[in-house]
Amino acid sequence: MLTSLKKTLGIGICLLGIGAAADTEIRNFKSELSRLPEGKKSEDVFYKTAPALKLDSGEAGKQKSNNVAHGFYIFGEQARALRGKKIRFEAQIQRREGKAPLRGSFRISGNGNKNMTSKNAFLLSPAENKKWEKVSADFAIPELDGIENINFLLSMYPRGVEEDCWLVDDPVISMIEDNPVAEKWQKNIGIAAFDSAGTPLVLAGNGVKAKVVVGLKANAVARFAAKEIVDHIQAATGEVLEITTDDTGNGPAIHVGNTKLTRSYGIDPEQMAPENWVIARVGSAVMISGGEKPDAAESEILSRANIPLGTLSAAYEFLERVAGVRWYWPGKLGTVVPRQKTIRIGHLYETGTPSYNTRMFFYDTSSDPSISNREMRLWFRRIRSGGSVGDPIANHTFMDWPERFGKNHPEYFALLSDGSRKNYRNAHGVHLCLSHPGVVAQAVRDAVAWFKANPSAKFYAIMPGDSNNLYYCRCERCQKSASPEKDSSGVHSNAVWSFVNQVAAEVAKEVPGKRIKCASYADYQARPDFPILSNVAVTLCYPTTPHSRIYNRKHYLRHVKEWHSSGAAELYLWDYWDKPRYSRGVYGAPSFFPREIKEWLTLDGGVIKGRVIELSGIDSNGKKVDAWGDWLYDVQNVYVVNRLMWNRNEDVEKILNEFYPAFYGPAAEPVRQFYTEMERAWSCSPASDKPAEWDWEACWKKTYPPEFVDKMMGLLRSAVAVSQGKEPYHSRALKTLEGFLPFEANSRMFRGQKAPAPQTIRVPSVSAPPVADGNPDEEVWKKAARIADFVDSYNSYEQKARTEMRFLHDKNNLYVSVKAEWPPERKEILFADNAHPRDALLWNYEGVELFFAGGDSERYQFILSPDSKMADFHWLEKDPKTPGIQWNSPQTRAATKRIANGWTGEIAIPLADLKFKNPAGNGTFRVNFFRNHYPKEGNQVRWEQSCWMPTFGSFHDVGKYGIMHLE
Ligand SMILES: [Zn+2]
Repeated sequence: MLTSLKKTLGIGICLLGIGAAADTEIRNFKSELSRLPEGKKSEDVFYKTAPALKLDSGEAGKQKSNNVAHGFYIFGEQARALRGKKIRFEAQIQRREGKAPLRGSFRISGNGNKNMTSKNAFLLSPAENKKWEKVSADFAIPELDGIENINFLLSMYPRGVEEDCWLVDDPVISMIEDNPVAEKWQKNIGIAAFDSAGTPLVLAGNGVKAKVVVGLKANAVARFAAKEIVDHIQAATGEVLEITTDDTGNGPAIHVGNTKLTRSYGIDPEQMAPENWVIARVGSAVMISGGEKPDAAESEILSRANIPLGTLSAAYEFLERVAGVRWYWPGKLGTVVPRQKTIRIGHLYETGTPSYNTRMFFYDTSSDPSISNREMRLWFRRIRSGGSVGDPIANHTFMDWPERFGKNHPEYFALLSDGSRKNYRNAHGVHLCLSHPGVVAQAVRDAVAWFKANPSAKFYAIMPGDSNNLYYCRCERCQKSASPEKDSSGVHSNAVWSFVNQVAAEVAKEVPGKRIKCASYADYQARPDFPILSNVAVTLCYPTTPHSRIYNRKHYLRHVKEWHSSGAAELYLWDYWDKPRYSRGVYGAPSFFPREIKEWLTLDGGVIKGRVIELSGIDSNGKKVDAWGDWLYDVQNVYVVNRLMWNRNEDVEKILNEFYPAFYGPAAEPVRQFYTEMERAWSCSPASDKPAEWDWEACWKKTYPPEFVDKMMGLLRSAVAVSQGKEPYHSRALKTLEGFLPFEANSRMFRGQKAPAPQTIRVPSVSAPPVADGNPDEEVWKKAARIADFVDSYNSYEQKARTEMRFLHDKNNLYVSVKAEWPPERKEILFADNAHPRDALLWNYEGVELFFAGGDSERYQFILSPDSKMADFHWLEKDPKTPGIQWNSPQTRAATKRIANGWTGEIAIPLADLKFKNPAGNGTFRVNFFRNHYPKEGNQVRWEQSCWMPTFGSFHDVGKYGIMHLE
């Protein structure tokens, strides 16, 4: 009887034989049949009472060319009231003449919107003529806005060879279910998942294509998630699933986000806790949903924004758990999608919520041109980077204050040692007089105004510029609030956090519930002596190097504990992962490994709410790339840490055991051995209760000695060899080997390396000294002691800058001339153009440094940069932690002059200023001389440092200095 059943928009149709009685009659059209025009009315043949509807082509041979049709309409409010309901059309039909089938079609029409029309069609062709039969068809009315009418159209296309005639009687439309999806008796998800577990559900493959259902008003998150599901299931099975808004619950379906099905189980992304997610099977459907920002735009999804994307995360959970998908690296090469004939599930009911509410990365755009920015952002989303609370991480602020208040309120800015106000912004940011009441009041006004303009934001940063200790305000009030008795990590804690508390207290009055954020950083890293207010969020900046050393772990725990009891609302962590790679001498040395990551997170689990992980902003040559340098060093770590920040209970061994075979195939074993041996070498260090040394000797001689590096690189080379011809494993092994080549190259530079024996400079005395005008052309310089041929500070890295210094003295001064040059192909050099002429941190720019030490580590440092900029320091400890910049040698005269491809300079230092508690001898200093050269290459800056006596590390290592005698 039923010859054809066609679905266009997937609205389910059942014809004939449905026994269930309709629940509620919506419209009975019988009474309307008597108003039909004569040609459409059958008075002699009808079902029970006259008349019936007649669809007649007319006599044979005179058939109309057009179809003969009649529609049964429900209009306006009555139609709109049926949104989301399931209705049934029923009628008695009888074929009187001919063979033309009767077509039924169902439509929804709305005002001017093409999407409003929904159609279904079927054909009826009964075996016998002149016999009444009952037909019925069911339809779900979608939740469309602006519905104008719902109609059921019956039509017949005359065949043109004979008379065709159909009769239709007792047409009725009824509601059959209030909710077409849920069963009459609701189940909870757990029972639904349990009851359906016994029957495997095929979602894709072998010709099965589950529909991927999104809500009619699906947000960007659900649409993006649906697309990700479709793309990955296609890659796994070859089946292309259709994304639809058809929510009738027929056949296998994957419901994404907010659909009628998920709502019928109480799952609504707008109601769920942020990032809380669920994936569950109920009958023949899977629900994938999670708490999210409802109006997130696709551009936000592909960004660093910390917005809850619960449904998208649930989709990735689904793809990982059900389809075995893994995103180990960014891009296609890094994606593992196991090929499967079918994707099938039994029982499925998983939920979760992230262990950390903030999972961010700094320097997270790769400097590798083979990876696009989009691929990188997508990868971070796929491994669940992001968060739910906005941006709780503090960073340096007040950047626009010099522009706003620099002229009219110079008193708002830090007083410098030369008496000027730092009412300008430099590379270190902006530094204020934090004790000034006007500064507090203005910071409060700014915070309140910002919160009012950004009502959904929760955090507002107030944090001094970088190098706070050096630029700390020297006014009387600020100096009183400093705590010189505390060590370098706490000297300005009380001052900075008192300012933060004052601002937070006022902001709480006007915008309660919001947070003021600041970092515990540098000279205000230690907890202050008083409690932190409860509307302050603190970002702990804790530069541990290396993380794994026991001293560092204990110290870190103490630090976290100290702040945990501070009263602050929340603690976050700026996690400097790659700090071990930031120093010359250890460039290119891998640091941090998966098992250590788990241990590191265990230390602060539950106390730290979120972290931003700083990846390496310089590459293995020491080049500043301000992007993710040597991403291959970290990519496995980033994958692992994201899994652990998402769920810190995960077993690292399980992650790794999946990773090697899935990702490297035939090369799995050598790569596994490489990473395991590397982590073993890295994590095993001599027990010590002191901060661990991480310098070129600890690195290249003790941790990764040459024979070890050779063995490790051998493993990667064999991984490449055994995977030859087997893609994508070979490409991955090759990329891994290439990624770690800098490890081998840096190791080679330090093989057999030894510091040269210290040399001596004998400085002649002159009676007619030169004039320090920057141009060392006086005849007297010809008599000077001369040093040149500066070497790289490790006597290892290539350096192209040339430096010459000459020395003279008289009874008052030491005179130094400088000639600093670079190759002509270096067109752009980083000069200290915007730096203050006196006591700026000139080591960050083109310049030379002069060190004079006594018998111990007490030393004076002078830095000379074009254009006649100078900084002088006096250091007492081995490490430059004391605020040595406060020392000044006011009588020192210095000047420079630019020349082609370089500059010259002269400096006259009063010998009376080079006083030592423990002098090296009468007229004798321990000395060293350095050159900082920063050529720009595009947007990137390279730091090329060279020196007279290589120090193999910090310039402050006086043990490696040479000797200067004044004759
Ligand atoms: Zn001040």
